[in-house]
Amino acid sequence: MKNLNFYLPTRVIFGKGRISELSENLKDYKKILIVSGKSSFKKSGAYDKIKAQLKDKKLVYFSDVKENPDFPTLKKGSEIARKEKVELIMGVGGGSPMDAAKGIALLSTNEGDMKDYMKGKEVKKRPLPIVCIPTTSGTGSEVTPYAVFTDPVSKDKGGFANPGIFPIFSIIDPELTYSMPDEVLINTGIDALTHALEAYLSTKATPFNDVISIHAIEIIMGNLKDALKRDKEAMDRISYASMIAGIAITNAGTLLLHAMGYPLTVFHGIPHGKANAILLPAFLDFMRENSSVKEKVELLDGIFEEYGGIVKFLKEFNISTRLSENGIKEEEIKVFVEKTITKKNLKITPAKITKEDLYELYKGTF
Ligand code: NAP
Ligand code: FE
Repeated sequence: MKNLNFYLPTRVIFGKGRISELSENLKDYKKILIVSGKSSFKKSGAYDKIKAQLKDKKLVYFSDVKENPDFPTLKKGSEIARKEKVELIMGVGGGSPMDAAKGIALLSTNEGDMKDYMKGKEVKKRPLPIVCIPTTSGTGSEVTPYAVFTDPVSKDKGGFANPGIFPIFSIIDPELTYSMPDEVLINTGIDALTHALEAYLSTKATPFNDVISIHAIEIIMGNLKDALKRDKEAMDRISYASMIAGIAITNAGTLLLHAMGYPLTVFHGIPHGKANAILLPAFLDFMRENSSVKEKVELLDGIFEEYGGIVKFLKEFNISTRLSENGIKEEEIKVFVEKTITKKNLKITPAKITKEDLYELYKGTF
């Protein structure tokens, strides 16, 4: 049998209304930095619920996190954390604030820039403890040792992994996602779908992780449409599935699809989940033809077939899988290829991938 590694030190507190259990889990901490986006913190209801519970704590707010957090944001946040001598960093919001909280926690105890740690600089000191509270249902950042950051100078986006940035606990309260705009609900739901699917196809996949991945895929395929109709039970299920898909990528990572999606976000501001969605059919075609896990791709095809196929499923959410219909020009492909080929995600994709392959893959989606 194949070897199995499993490490997930995050305590998961999942369920409707369970944000009410925040205070009892924070008994050991007095000074907390809350990292959030500009509006979702209040719109989601998280601000009121957290403030009411943590009256006995010193709360410091850093609400400057924009979508796809960049290095300067992490620096700013960590300077505040150091100055205020906070003991814990709490990320409240979508993947952007949760990832930012992870980067800030790391830079609060370790000198230097995130850019260097992304390039492999050793993380010498334990990051400050992290708590995550998601308000979207997609990234799974609440249960991963990953964070995704953007370098505004080199115009590059990529993932960072370190066991020190696993949250100590996360509260996944689906009620906090009810205020998501339709687009955010769709994009993040499909991000979660791609997490499960990529983990399933990964060279790091195991039979145990495959069960988790397929479980998440079936829930998302079966519930995303009803979630968009604001069926609360369906929305709760997507929250659950995105967390499960997060566990799947903690074990097996994301693949070529995520790497190919990053330039769409960096150069065109296309939201992360949507970028993955646009490229998903082309990625599956490539894997069907070139991967060493063709039987797994067939199994996925079988699941998607129940919904009329993946292209039809995405169309129902108004997602065009043509790059030309998403504002991208063919002459940009070369730059996208150069960015994508460097990503670690390719190493765990079970196919040989050349620059020519990448060029053809992007081009095939025009
Ligand atoms: P996001 O960038 O955090 O947020 C997208 C938008 O949704 C923002 O405008 C945000 O508002 C708004 N929003 C969030 N929750 C809301 C709510 N409940 N009600 C109303 N508006 C709400 O979106 P995301 O897709 O969750 O995160 C994307 C980031 O996560 C990307 O950088 C991606 O690369 C990363 N990611 C990380 C992992 C990981 O394992 N760490 C995995 C996949 C993706 P505000 O701006 O006001 O917050
Ligand atoms: Fe993702």
